[in-house]
Amino acid sequence: MIERKIALFGGTFDPIHLGHTTVAAAAAEHIRAEKIVFIPARRSPLKDTFPEAGDDDRVKMITLAIAENKKFQLNDCELKKAEPGYTIETVRKFQTDFGSETSLYWLVGADTIDELPRWYRIVELIDQCNICAMYRAGCKAPDFTKFTHIWGLQRVQKLQQNVIQTPLIDISSSEIRHRLATGQDVTDMLHSPVADYIREHGLYHSKPKN
Ligand code: ATP
Repeated sequence: MIERKIALFGGTFDPIHLGHTTVAAAAAEHIRAEKIVFIPARRSPLKDTFPEAGDDDRVKMITLAIAENKKFQLNDCELKKAEPGYTIETVRKFQTDFGSETSLYWLVGADTIDELPRWYRIVELIDQCNICAMYRAGCKAPDFTKFTHIWGLQRVQKLQQNVIQTPLIDISSSEIRHRLATGQDVTDMLHSPVADYIREHGLYHSKPKN
């Protein structure tokens, strides 16, 4: 039986930008994943604040940004759930949907590494899927050896083997929100249909919260 490989990419995508799609495409190639599922979150697991754009706007922007890549899909299951939603629940749902012959890969940027010990049921998540840490501009290369004392050598080796040296794209949603709120140019950071959508709907024009 040929093993299927599916990558899952969670985030607030507030808004989705060229950094997200570029590293996701590189990760898909590295993993040889047949598809990447973008899964917008109601909010970041460890942040109290909600995204600035509403759920519908974020879904529409993701739809516009992924339209040209046949491997990219959107799944809004986390937006439909009553809070709180956790990654382990999402991964288990996909594992049930796709079946045990499918290997799941959960993508995270290098900035997320230090938060992982605080994620809900992180040990089960490490065991359940392949957490793939991607390189990110402005962050150190992902290194899990510092977590050996809490997760054990085997889990740390699994995490290290799944690190993906994605291209360094110096773009973040918070920088985009800041630039839009201060009237600066963001054209190089966004897919042009997303930039058009933001302009047409007047998104991100108030002072950013972060
Ligand atoms: P913010 O600036 O608001 O924190 P963000 O740009 O990090 O947002 P998120 O939607 O929070 O965007 O990111 C979703 C996932 O994508 C996270 O795991 C994050 O680390 C990763 N990611 C986002 N931008 C990049 C990038 N340029 N390179 C690599 N990974 C990225």
